[in-house]
Amino acid sequence: MKKNLINIVSNTNFETRKVKENVEEKLIERNFKISKTFDHEAELTISIGGDGAFLKAIHNNRFPRMPIVGINTGTLGFFQEINPNKIDEFLDLYEAKDYCEEASYMLRADVYTKNRKFTLHAINEVILKGKDSKIIQMAVEIDQNHLENFAGDGILVSTPVGSTAYNFSLGGAIVYSTLESLQMTPMAPLNSRAYRSLKSPIIVPGQTKISLKPTSRYRNSSIIVVDGSEKEFWDLLKLDITMSNKYIRRLIFKKDFYWQNLKDKFL
Ligand code: NAP
Repeated sequence: MKKNLINIVSNTNFETRKVKENVEEKLIERNFKISKTFDHEAELTISIGGDGAFLKAIHNNRFPRMPIVGINTGTLGFFQEINPNKIDEFLDLYEAKDYCEEASYMLRADVYTKNRKFTLHAINEVILKGKDSKIIQMAVEIDQNHLENFAGDGILVSTPVGSTAYNFSLGGAIVYSTLESLQMTPMAPLNSRAYRSLKSPIIVPGQTKISLKPTSRYRNSSIIVVDGSEKEFWDLLKLDITMSNKYIRRLIFKKDFYWQNLKDKFL
């Protein structure tokens, strides 16, 4: 680890650029160095922006191992604890090591096509859905136990930190951020004389494997969405979703941040 070296990743909004200049000035006054390009050996990454900037910072830099802290200039900023008006307070606490570290586990999705296997990682969620606003039918297996033949818009599997994102809009539960679990939430499940799909989300232990197998008609008309980014695969046979051994290290400065954040951002 390179002591005192800090990565700053940010979006390009006007507000973010002003905050970034201010943060850089204050870091230099305190004898920190700011890396010109993303350095995997830096002691900390500061992400400035909203949750989108936070998610991009992690995906674009291949899931870095150092801790990350967010300064919120976004519309919601669920991941971004630091208020741009409280930079001095944040740096005082950081230098005094007055914080705790929280590990947020990611999802691992193994994608099996007819000829190849790919692995994807998600911070918020992985979705298997129909292409071009069409429905999808798929078999859902939990640890190799057949649960249902689903028909509907798709199925979303979220992490605990992702439970407040798309999952929440679909009526999924909010899951406490450190609980090792996966949540499977149906997207517009069909229920009629023709189809019978589970309407409610299911929360399973982190060690569980959720397998989604599109029926043969849908193998070339489905898409996978990972933290908002769409991926298309030809001859998709199966998606195995488990808890990844990769995790994000977030620095938390306020003891009751989780509850305060939930109240501030959702109530
Ligand atoms: P985006 O515009 O970057 O994000 C959509 C909204 O979700 C933004 O307000 C974002 O906050 C917020 N968000 C992201 N992660 C969150 C989390 N863990 N908890 C609470 N709110 C969170 O959309 P995108 O680029 O398509 O996808 C990024 C994420 O947005 C996805 O992972 C997905 O969970 C979420 N999303 C939600 C819906 C929905 O609720 N209907 C639809 C599509 C995507 P900021 O404003 O701070 O960026």
